[in-house]
Amino acid sequence: MLVMKFGGTSVAEASRFKDVFNIVKHRSTVSGKVPLIVLSAMSGITNELIDCAKCAQASDHSLAAARLTDIKDRHYEVVEDLIPLSGRDQLLSALEIDFNRLSILLQGITYLGELSKRSLDAISSCGEILSTKIFSAYAISQKAPAVYVDARTIMLTNEDYGKAIPNLEELSARSQSEIAALMKEGKWIITQGFIGATANGVTTTLGRGGSDYSASLIGAAINADEIQIWTDVDGMMTADPRLVPEAIPVANVTFQEAAELAYFGAKVLHPLTIKPAIEKNIPVRILNTLNPDSAGTLLVEKTDNTEKICAIACKKGQTAIFINSARMLMASGFLAQVFNIFARYETSIDLITTSEVSVSLTIDNLDKLPQIEEELKQLGEVTVLNDLAIIALVGRNFREESGTAHRIFKALADLNIIMISFGASNINVSLVLTNQDADRAIKLLHSEFFSMAAVRS
Ligand code: ADP
Ligand code: ASP
Ligand code: MG
Repeated sequence: MLVMKFGGTSVAEASRFKDVFNIVKHRSTVSGKVPLIVLSAMSGITNELIDCAKCAQASDHSLAAARLTDIKDRHYEVVEDLIPLSGRDQLLSALEIDFNRLSILLQGITYLGELSKRSLDAISSCGEILSTKIFSAYAISQKAPAVYVDARTIMLTNEDYGKAIPNLEELSARSQSEIAALMKEGKWIITQGFIGATANGVTTTLGRGGSDYSASLIGAAINADEIQIWTDVDGMMTADPRLVPEAIPVANVTFQEAAELAYFGAKVLHPLTIKPAIEKNIPVRILNTLNPDSAGTLLVEKTDNTEKICAIACKKGQTAIFINSARMLMASGFLAQVFNIFARYETSIDLITTSEVSVSLTIDNLDKLPQIEEELKQLGEVTVLNDLAIIALVGRNFREESGTAHRIFKALADLNIIMISFGASNINVSLVLTNQDADRAIKLLHSEFFSMAAVRS
C-alpha cells in the first residue's frame, strides 16, 4: 500500500487535478501497490476560508459572503473544466450542500461577532472536503476504483481545536475496519489531510500544514510500504528555493535531520510527519508533482551521505529572553527555577545558551510572555528582544569535526549573531539573528557551504 499526499499547489487548478490523477495511476500501476490518496485544500483556500471567518467575526457579512462566493467560483470553475457532464450535477449538488452549510456558519458568526476555535475549525476544514469530493468525482469519471472516505470517520482527535491531537489507537482500529478491506480489493482510498473529529463527531483540525502529518499517521495505521509527500519542489532542498534559487535537492535525509529541518522552518514537511513513520520504519519520500520523474528526497533511518551540511532552515518571528542574575554566581538550582516558570506557562523553549551569571533563550509562543516576564524578574534582570530569526544548519558530526564554526563566522562576518547554540546536538548548529538579517545570512551560509567550490573543499 502506498500513501500519496498531495499539497495545495498540487491541486491548484483543473489541470493539476489531472496531473495528480495521472501520477497516482502511473505509480500504482508500476509498483503494483494500492494507493491511499490524502489531499490538501486547493492552494490558498484554507487561508481564504480563515479570512472569511474573520470578516464574519468583524460582523462584515457582505465581505464574508463576497469572499465565500469567490471560493465557490474557484471550485466550480475546476468542476466545469474537469468533470464530464454526466457526473457533474451529482457533484455540484454535494458541493452546494457544503457551501450552504458554510454560509449558515458564517451568518451565525456574524450575528454573534464571535469566532471560537471550534467554529474556526468547522470553517477551515472545508477546503479539504471540497478538494477531495472533486478529485473523487474525477477519479470515478476516469473509471478508477476510487472510494471517498471522510477522514472524520477515522481520524478521531481530542477537543483541542486548531491543534487537535489524534487518537492513534482509534485511528489504527478504524483504518483496519474501514479502509484495509477496501484496499485489499484494490480500491483507491481518497481522503482529507488536516482534518479529524472528536468522539462526538465535531470537526477538528491538526494545525496548519497538517496534511503531511495526516498522511504519515494514516500510513503508519495501515502499515503502508511508503509514504509519499507530493509538493511543488524537487524534495528537501539545501535551503528554501524561494529564497535561494541555487538550492539543490538532497537525495537522502535521515529522519532525525528531516525532523530538525522541519521544526526549524523547512515548510516542505510538517514537523510531526516524521514520528509515525519512524515508529513503523516506513520510508517517506518527498516528490514534485511538477516534475514527477525526479528522484526527490528519501527519508531513511541511516544514510551514507557524507556531506557535512545537509540543509539550512529558518524560523522567523522568534523572541529571545535574556536573564541576568548575580545570584546565579556559584548558585545551584537557578536554571531549574527558570525552566519551571516556562513549564508552568506551557511555553516551550527552542534554544538556550548560558554563562555563569546569565541565561538566554528563545520562544515563539508569546501568549504567556507577560506573566513569564513578571516571574522571571524575581530572579534577575530581564531583557526581551522580538523580531528575531533562528537559522539552523543541519548536518553531521559537528562535535567531532573541526572547521564548521570558523566557516559560519567567516560567512557571517559582517552580520550580528545574537545567539549561537553549538554542541547541544551533533547534527544542528543554530544561530539567532534579526528577522531583517536572516535572508542575507541564509544566502551567505548557503554559498559558503553549497557553492561548487565549497562542496569540493
Ligand atoms: P504543500 O502545499 O505541497 O504542502 P508547502 O507550501 O507546505 O507545500 O511546502 C512546500 C514549500 O516549502 C516549497 O515551495 C518551498 O518554498 C518551501 N520550503 C522551505 N524550505 C524548504 C526546503 N529546505 N526544501 C524544500 N522546500 C522548502
Ligand atoms: N490546508 C491546510 C493548510 O493550509 C493543511 C495543509 O495544506 O497541509 O494549512
Ligand atoms: Mg505543506
